Amino acid sequence: MEARLPRPFRVLFTTRVGGESTGVFSSLNLDPRSEDDPTAVARNRARVAALVGRRVISPVQVHGLRVVGAAEYVQEPPGSPCDGLTIHADIDEGLAALLLFADCVPVVLCGEVDMAVIHAGWRGVLGGIVQQGGRALMGAPGTAVIGPSIGPCCFTAADEVASGFAARFGPEVVVRAGASCRVDLWASVTKALAEIGIHGEQVVNPRLCTACNRDFFYSYREEGPVTGRQGCVGWAETR
Ligand SMILES: [Zn+2]
Repeated sequence: MEARLPRPFRVLFTTRVGGESTGVFSSLNLDPRSEDDPTAVARNRARVAALVGRRVISPVQVHGLRVVGAAEYVQEPPGSPCDGLTIHADIDEGLAALLLFADCVPVVLCGEVDMAVIHAGWRGVLGGIVQQGGRALMGAPGTAVIGPSIGPCCFTAADEVASGFAARFGPEVVVRAGASCRVDLWASVTKALAEIGIHGEQVVNPRLCTACNRDFFYSYREEGPVTGRQGCVGWAETR
């Protein structure tokens, strides 16, 4: 699926459909650190690279707050932790940023000269990774996309996590459901985006819940730790 961004930036969201992995990883698993057959994962990743026609940079994600430039990341020691990459139309020519997801929120920020692809799990959202992404851009971000991720329909959270979200983003991001709480990560990210100047209709959110749509997406919450990852890939179309 492609979301519309201002030129020259482009972003694609993969689903779990159309790849070579089998069983619980079926079929377009992009995670080289999963227990899936490495050959199948490599072929799946090669499909994405062929689709975007660029070298795909895929960092080691750790639920941290670090966002760096794609060309800069390439120079770092292999395995450097990173949960967001920026793509500058000139500096990162020939590169695409691929981050992997199975419930966590893909957040794409788009500015005048660069874009950021961010992996925002609940820790990252609370910790301020959306703000880090905004700071990592050279110009002011003007557009954002919230990709397929676990929705307020399904994200049950422990009380202390829910309290953290209520304290940070307001009580309206927490929904009481009987004895448990659900946290609205999309509303929380939307509020974080407003704090960095991206408001209302500048935020695109198709509200696709990964846990509700397991035919199309991997869901860590629904399927457990042994599952695959879909991707969000961003690049600049400069030639
Ligand atoms: Zn759901």
